Amino acid sequence: MTDLLTQLAHIDAIRTGHFLYASGKHGDTYVEKFNLLRDPAATSKACEFFAEQFRDKDIDVVVGPTTGGILLAFETARQMGVASAYAERASDGGSGREIRRGTTFAPGSRVVVVDDILTTGGSVRETLAALESHPVEVVAVGVLVDRSNGATTFGDIPLVAIASRKFDAWDAENCPLCAQGVPLEKPGTTTTPGS
Ligand SMILES: [Zn+2]
Repeated sequence: MTDLLTQLAHIDAIRTGHFLYASGKHGDTYVEKFNLLRDPAATSKACEFFAEQFRDKDIDVVVGPTTGGILLAFETARQMGVASAYAERASDGGSGREIRRGTTFAPGSRVVVVDDILTTGGSVRETLAALESHPVEVVAVGVLVDRSNGATTFGDIPLVAIASRKFDAWDAENCPLCAQGVPLEKPGTTTTPGS
């Protein structure tokens, strides 16, 4: 199996260059996870990594947060032959996530939480919080790419990252790519499905 970062680079879900991030900092790597999630075949292939990692863990349910996580949870669960569930934005419009739409778990269900790109871990943490009111055991958290390179953790719950990589970011005045005169790109919304 080709490694995940190579696969993601192949479909432009990870690009290298000189980018202006939403934070205002500059960096040399840009992740557009929807270049993966818009491509069902590539997404399915990425989920093979999760299925391989969790197949012998006696998992009952794969849970993911909106939006990327639910697509990954669905496909990973399909490949593993188990159920999936989804942590959505709270119905009252408040912060946090909820397991909605009449989802129930058998007591003692073994759950794995999956998501796409891990940075600070907010969406995973909200999913774990949503699961606290359900009678489940969270066996592991799986992410495709850990951008924090191990800095983000979830207490005692093991984190399985298919790929891990530190993404450097610099203020403009300290940016080595600016110093080299590399043109700055502001990643945007130029991708068309099917193009
Ligand atoms: Zn720069």
